[in-house]
Amino acid sequence: MNIILPDNSVKVLPDTSTGLNLAQSIGPRLAKEALAVKVNGALRDLLLPLPENASVEIVTFDSEPGKSVFWHTSSHILAQAVQELFPSAKIAIGPAIENGFYYDFDVDHPFTPQDLLAIEKKCKEIMDAKTPLKRIECGVDEARSYFSGKSEPYKLDLLGDIEGSPSMYEQGTWRDLCRGPHLPNTGYVRAIKLLSVAGAYWRGSEKNKMLQRIYGISFPKQSMLDEHMRLLEEAQKRDHRKLGKELDLFSFHSEGAGFPFWHGNGMLLYNAIMDYCRSEHRSAGYQEVKTPMILNEELWRKSGHWDKYRDNMYFTTIDEVVHAVKPMNCPGGLLIYKNSPHSYKEFPIKYCEFGLVHRHEKAGVLQGLFRVRQFTQDDAHIFCLPEQIETQIDKVIDFIIHIYRTFGFSDYTMELSTRPDNYIGALEIWEKAENALKQVLDAKKYSYKINAGDGAFYGPKIDFHIKDCLGRSWQCGTVQLDFSMPERFELEYTDAAGQKKRPVMIHRALLGSMERFLGILLEHYGGALPLWLAPQQVRIIPISEKFIDYAHNVQTQCIAAGLRSEIDDRPEKMGYKIREAEVKKIPCMVIVGEKEAEAATVSIRYHGKGDLGAQPLESFIEQVTAEVNGKGLLQTNPRVGG
Ligand SMILES: [Zn+2]
Ligand SMILES: [Zn+2]
Repeated sequence: MNIILPDNSVKVLPDTSTGLNLAQSIGPRLAKEALAVKVNGALRDLLLPLPENASVEIVTFDSEPGKSVFWHTSSHILAQAVQELFPSAKIAIGPAIENGFYYDFDVDHPFTPQDLLAIEKKCKEIMDAKTPLKRIECGVDEARSYFSGKSEPYKLDLLGDIEGSPSMYEQGTWRDLCRGPHLPNTGYVRAIKLLSVAGAYWRGSEKNKMLQRIYGISFPKQSMLDEHMRLLEEAQKRDHRKLGKELDLFSFHSEGAGFPFWHGNGMLLYNAIMDYCRSEHRSAGYQEVKTPMILNEELWRKSGHWDKYRDNMYFTTIDEVVHAVKPMNCPGGLLIYKNSPHSYKEFPIKYCEFGLVHRHEKAGVLQGLFRVRQFTQDDAHIFCLPEQIETQIDKVIDFIIHIYRTFGFSDYTMELSTRPDNYIGALEIWEKAENALKQVLDAKKYSYKINAGDGAFYGPKIDFHIKDCLGRSWQCGTVQLDFSMPERFELEYTDAAGQKKRPVMIHRALLGSMERFLGILLEHYGGALPLWLAPQQVRIIPISEKFIDYAHNVQTQCIAAGLRSEIDDRPEKMGYKIREAEVKKIPCMVIVGEKEAEAATVSIRYHGKGDLGAQPLESFIEQVTAEVNGKGLLQTNPRVGG
């Protein structure tokens, strides 16, 4: 039989060969790493016979589908282990997720940490047994009678949703209702860790019973699990909510769930980011605008938000007219555009707005600065001629990359999201817009992933994901092309022939949510921010109260140079003050005593670098100011130590 490989070469194999046979024919290493196969694009079990003339790709743990198959099988191992130890437990669902897997169980008592250890041990026994997983194609009736025999109400409930014939997977005497595919046997999973237990409603609805969800992670090698656990521990240390408290940056209060409170240090950091972004926008030819936070219902109906986005919006009534608190800044930008006539000669017109928006999120999903109900977008709307689209998109992409680099993120990926089901506007316009975005990405040879159906309701978009020092990926910037809003708002310009035409609109944000970006930044640097961003850049510590005057002299010079500084004149021991400045991750400490006061010098300590000796005050100020202006990453090292 012939099999077509991803490079379009043809492999001749004996009839009824499986995916594993194919991997073996390519090489022993691939055969060892193969987990499943993609047959004509569809993921399938490794040990099933391949169809003649199929295009086949071997799937390993390195890929997203490989991990998903691996973790899905791990969830079956977990469910079998739970039912062996707790025979009365009922099984619900157990998918692979972004980082690992979970399984939901209906049990009388919540699982304890001891239970988790016992379950993990049982999982390892099941893994060691290397039990094959067998796919069973069956009819609905057969599956129904199997799961009613086992008294599994949740599986019976799920069977009601299945169109066509279901399938089951069997490992030893244990079975699950499952589409698959799965690993050939339980022994492929070499290392497993059960991480936590949480309550979860059946089918996610509060009307249903609360189940117990066990989260876990697994790998083909113990060393990979060890590395994962190390990164997880590092991530916990760097949790921005923890750092926010330690560095006194922000807080949350029950009086306004999901609404951050910014403290003095937090505002210094917030404004350092804002000042930089403002000046970059000015250089790039943007006009900064500010539009109202509350606008009437009619406007939101016109923009389409009322129809498509109402569930995420907050409302209030003014003079008996319903108004909405803005979830996005676009309609305000459109009204400014419409306020005066425009000629083609003005294009592109670029309005930027640091717009405070409110979006409703369920209480359960709020998470520090990452998921809030109120945030500021570094938003902008670019109005341009159709023939300017590519150039403008290209400029925005360059702008985004430039800004990320300054913040110390050099690793980023792009995703192109196309027309969603709830789109507005004409199909033909969507195609034009999607092609325009593709063209820009292809012309610059950017590699990107396509998210089919994930675009905004008014147009396709390119999303930017930045990778932090722990290898985690965060969605930040976005560029969205929109032919629909100008239509709905009847935007016009006069072309060279004096004709009225519709401009094109581009929505874009570089950092996305300022709040969320700040959280990412804190975690990336573990709180030890680069000098230019640090809320307090220089802490001046006099050796005793005799030198407070000189300390003030040093501070005056720092202030004159635009440096953020403070004096620690508390009657505490030196060692204590130095340790505290280290804990607060202040980049520069200067210590002043008799020698320094007489010679007009300062003794310098940089965060994490210890004592660097004395330096003339003037040259210290010069050096630190140059460092701040250069926005360098000196003195900080976000990489996680081995
Ligand atoms: Zn399954
Ligand atoms: Zn917009």
